[in-house]
Amino acid sequence: MQPPSTPAYHAAFPVYPKNKPSKNNPAKNHPVRGSLLGIEHLEAYEILALLQLARRMNPVKARPLLRNKRIVFLFYEASTRTRTSFEFAAKSLGAITTLVHASGSSIEKGESIIDTGYTLRAVGADCIVMRHPSAGAPHLMARHLDIPIINAGDGMHEHPSQALLDAFTILKHKKSLKGLQATIIGDVFHSRVARSACHLLTKFGVKITLCGPPEFVPEVAATLVPGLRVTRHLEDAIRGTDVIMLLRVQTERLAGQKISLQDYVSRYQMTAAHLKLARRDALVMHPGPIIRGLELTADVADGPQSVIVDEVHNGVPMRMAILARALGRAK
Ligand code: ASP
Repeated sequence: MQPPSTPAYHAAFPVYPKNKPSKNNPAKNHPVRGSLLGIEHLEAYEILALLQLARRMNPVKARPLLRNKRIVFLFYEASTRTRTSFEFAAKSLGAITTLVHASGSSIEKGESIIDTGYTLRAVGADCIVMRHPSAGAPHLMARHLDIPIINAGDGMHEHPSQALLDAFTILKHKKSLKGLQATIIGDVFHSRVARSACHLLTKFGVKITLCGPPEFVPEVAATLVPGLRVTRHLEDAIRGTDVIMLLRVQTERLAGQKISLQDYVSRYQMTAAHLKLARRDALVMHPGPIIRGLELTADVADGPQSVIVDEVHNGVPMRMAILARALGRAK
């Protein structure tokens, strides 16, 4: 098993050349206030404000803060949880929403991301929530449009709303993030969820251990943020931990790599016996979709320590807060 050949862990995020504003390209180079492109560059106080706002959001009794605002969900990749929870979040705040999926739209005809953005803006979009298989795609869009852009997952780069809803979920069970130990197990290399989680949790004093084989957790992963620890041994990773975050093996990003799933299961699958090594009140988390029998057993997925369904549930108030902030209604 060879480690990934990417020269640096950060290289997954390309740097685009600065664009020149012109008549046809009213680019501003800076994302509009309220955009949420990643966790890395957010200040801790901005994250706290979003978490506090989410606590005040009630999807079944929401104020119509976004009445008549038009929100487009532009999804170039499959999604169940993220898309439906953003959509319910937007609708419960009174917004008008529409979904544009790569298949069945002009994207299939070869239209560029930016031209699609100009089109959506021209039909009246006030905000775009965007998922794309390429790292940096929402950032590119944000540099060309004068409306807030929300990153709903960009390639292997970031998934900020997932990190926020995970922090929200942890804080429902633990008094504070500071001093907690979290263990992220699995395909860290390909995971935007893991990247955003590392950025967020370390800003609040969580000690993080990354665990998996070298293909999934290369040594360079520890350089993402200061203080990360890497281990290859599941028992070592779980012992005494407060939070276990499991990741899906992302077969769609494994082109060209040879990894034996059987080997992975026998060394890294989360079982009830392994879970006993963690703290008794440890939380088991997973961004979904879970694959029972692969990264975890069914009894762990459905067990009393699992907050996997809770994470999905919390996605709605968290995304209500994100959208309210995006459109200047964070009251
Ligand atoms: N749903 C998450 C994502 O979109 C995790 C996954 O797909 O494994 O990144």
